[in-house]
Amino acid sequence: MSDRILMQGNDAIARGLVEAGCAVAASYPGTPASEILSSIDRWRKKSGATMHVEWAVNEKVALEIAYTAAISGLRAAVSMKQVGLNVASDPFLSAAYLGVTGGFLVVSADDPGPHSSQTEQDSRLLAMMAKVPVLDPASPAHAMALAGTGFDLSETFGVPVMLRPTTRVCHASQDIEAAPFRPQAREARFVKDPARWAATPVFRRKLHDRLAEKIAAIAAWPATAPVRVNPEISAAKAVVASGVAFSHARELFGELGISGRIALYQVVQPYPLHAAFIDRLLETYGEILVLEESAPVIEMQIADRRHVSGRMTGTVPGTGELLPEIIERLLARFAGLPVTDAALPSQGGGRRPTLCPGCAHRSSFYAIRKAAPDGIYPSDIGCYTLGINLGAVDTVLCMGAAISQAAGFDYAHRLTGKQVDIVATIGDSTFYHAGIPPLIDAVVQGARFVLVILDNGTTAMTGNQPTPGTGIGAGGETTAAVDMEGLVRACGVRFCRTANPDRLPEFVELLKEALAHAREEGVAVVIARQPCAMVARAAGGVEPVAIVITEECTGCRHCVDRFECPALVFDEATNRVRIDGMTCNGCGVCVSVCPLGAIEQEPAGEKRP
Ligand code: SF4
Ligand code: SF4
Repeated sequence: MSDRILMQGNDAIARGLVEAGCAVAASYPGTPASEILSSIDRWRKKSGATMHVEWAVNEKVALEIAYTAAISGLRAAVSMKQVGLNVASDPFLSAAYLGVTGGFLVVSADDPGPHSSQTEQDSRLLAMMAKVPVLDPASPAHAMALAGTGFDLSETFGVPVMLRPTTRVCHASQDIEAAPFRPQAREARFVKDPARWAATPVFRRKLHDRLAEKIAAIAAWPATAPVRVNPEISAAKAVVASGVAFSHARELFGELGISGRIALYQVVQPYPLHAAFIDRLLETYGEILVLEESAPVIEMQIADRRHVSGRMTGTVPGTGELLPEIIERLLARFAGLPVTDAALPSQGGGRRPTLCPGCAHRSSFYAIRKAAPDGIYPSDIGCYTLGINLGAVDTVLCMGAAISQAAGFDYAHRLTGKQVDIVATIGDSTFYHAGIPPLIDAVVQGARFVLVILDNGTTAMTGNQPTPGTGIGAGGETTAAVDMEGLVRACGVRFCRTANPDRLPEFVELLKEALAHAREEGVAVVIARQPCAMVARAAGGVEPVAIVITEECTGCRHCVDRFECPALVFDEATNRVRIDGMTCNGCGVCVSVCPLGAIEQEPAGEKRP
């Protein structure tokens, strides 16, 4: 019996994977893909399926775990955001050559815009480079269906398959017909074949030839062929679209009344594009407009500049999301309809994001500025990137780069005889993900800087997934926990101290001590340990304190500008600061921030430790 269920795109992808008999699923959280793994675990429990589901330490590890299940004959999936695929690219490219025996899906969620990423890169380009077929869902229901299609494709040709949703698919909600879960009847069976699974370069060349043959065959596989979605009347023009751009185009074809004179095709498998489809397009239509996000993957495979327009020709904007307003204008122009000159909505802007009220990262950044006022502050990927507002984040490159960049700044300045205080910040989850190799490197090379590991015991930015330090698994089960201090010391760091950053005066002193060590001896690590304010509040157990602003306040704005707690509001009418009681979480840290002592704890309150 089937059900109709309102599902978010990530939930639908997870449901499709579990329905199709996925046995092993691994992921590292990253928006817009974060919810996929927790949903898989939820559907696993509901279906009663026996599965291994895990938050891996990073995307490379996640891909290797799932891939290995797929060469043992099981169906397996790995999910990540698009920049996570960069981290996993090494095994991803190699896995394409070696192939699989069970179905293997790599779900890489792209973020055109970008809304919450360093880049708006198109995972399909990496799939092309790897020679991995890609499926491009246009809606949550389509994504759910393609999970099963992807496993079938993977097993038919013995290749990894990429499912590439975008933010609008991941986060949209849709009422979807859910099929029953398929019972699993497979046993893991790894058939030894070292010439394949441990192939040397001589065999790799043969495997590459074999992969090229598979890709040619996949370009003729009927189940993923492009579909003409409007009436089969003869037309001189065609629109070829994929993903969310297709969903917008289909709706706009009706609104603009162009369904009867322009052909509309949905491309489900942008790479490899079906060879017969390319031939038919070029034979049939004089003008072809390609709509896709974010790179011209389909367009470059219809390599005839005389007939084809899209991102490569400049007809479609070369960057940014293809919003409905943009597609409407493109379609109207393509159809020869009048186009309005009204300005398009700007992408981006809005209120400046800030750290949550009571967030201990704010205390760490404030203390870093106090201890090393003229320092250089490399930082990393996480909600703590918002330390930029507090003047304590100078660089953000990619996962783990805070530590390598701290070392790089030290080497560059010391080469020219300059000594500069360098204080790097990295979250606990990011440290486990990509911070350990650069820390070892920095110790070995004798770099001199302070590393502050912002240990809030969670992966906060992506929805509070557990870290390896928590001893909690993807389904809430108890796992082994990593001892962060022991790990740091095992990397060769001799100065490693842990403290609560909300104890501001003591924390500033500790940072000064760490800086003194770093100047003379090398890397010093300070673990700033305090639970995420949102998690602590939800869990209860932290007694909030009541805060008042006294008559001593002169309206100097120091607390507002340098500490930037959203609950500290500058009141233009009184020229003083006031506390927004609805926003304040009662952490009490601001008491140590006002140089005049004008922020006080109400006498009846009990200060939080
Ligand atoms: S509370 Fe203190 S720091 Fe904030 S504006 Fe008033 S005097 Fe300045
Ligand atoms: S006590 Fe102070 S720092 Fe903490 S949330 Fe309230 S206003 Fe912000």
